[in-house]
Amino acid sequence: MTVIHLNCGTLHPVGGDRMVCHVLLVETARGLLLVDTGFGRRDVAEPTGRLGHPLTKVVRPDLAYRETALFQIQALGFDQADVADIVMTHLDSDHSGGIEDFPAARLHVSARELADADAEAGPSAAVRYRPWRQSRHPDDVVTYSETADDWFGFPAAALSGLDNDFAYVALPGHTPGHMGVAVRDGDEWLLHCGDAFYHRNAVLGRPLPVSMAFSQFLTARRPREARRTRKRLAELPGSSEGGVRLICAHDAVLFDESVEPGRA
Ligand SMILES: [Zn+2]
Repeated sequence: MTVIHLNCGTLHPVGGDRMVCHVLLVETARGLLLVDTGFGRRDVAEPTGRLGHPLTKVVRPDLAYRETALFQIQALGFDQADVADIVMTHLDSDHSGGIEDFPAARLHVSARELADADAEAGPSAAVRYRPWRQSRHPDDVVTYSETADDWFGFPAAALSGLDNDFAYVALPGHTPGHMGVAVRDGDEWLLHCGDAFYHRNAVLGRPLPVSMAFSQFLTARRPREARRTRKRLAELPGSSEGGVRLICAHDAVLFDESVEPGRA
């Protein structure tokens, strides 16, 4: 199984270092599978209308067409219709904007996340789920309300139509329905932790840059649950022990290391 790492949105947050929107592209027996989508074509075309000022002025994404998953997939020689599955960590704007670019794909999302994205009241939900609420949703949506399996001690679900090289892992806290996506990559598991953490130090037991600690806390819907999730992630056996390699959506160093091992 081939796993390709894509950056589908470079971010330049005020007061912080460069960040990315780390997306996985995996070749499966069903076709291509995306883990998250980053920003999409409509975000690039109409940033303020789609994303709103808080994101464009504070997180400051590049919003370049060449960074969209669609552009990069086509540049790799694939077709839009080759994307059969999109598995979402959650539906925040910087993860879900590209869903619309693949209308024929089957969307996998936790039932709780979908319910919140569709109907949660309040200004915070209105901002974070804004592109989703404006989008035409895919016809084929599979939701997951049960996590009855065990994956390294985490509650998990099998992904519909996919084999056991994948697991959909509950990592609540950033949002109540937030999930991680585990992909078997050679001898190790790769776990895309979405926004369960923003910076690698959060799962390495090292101090976080102040700006990261602040934004990690500020953006978590359930900060205490998010802290518990990070603590448990830190306890997973590392890839050198035949265990798990952790990546997250926005840490640029973890992304650079994935693209070019040993670089960072
Ligand atoms: Zn995010």
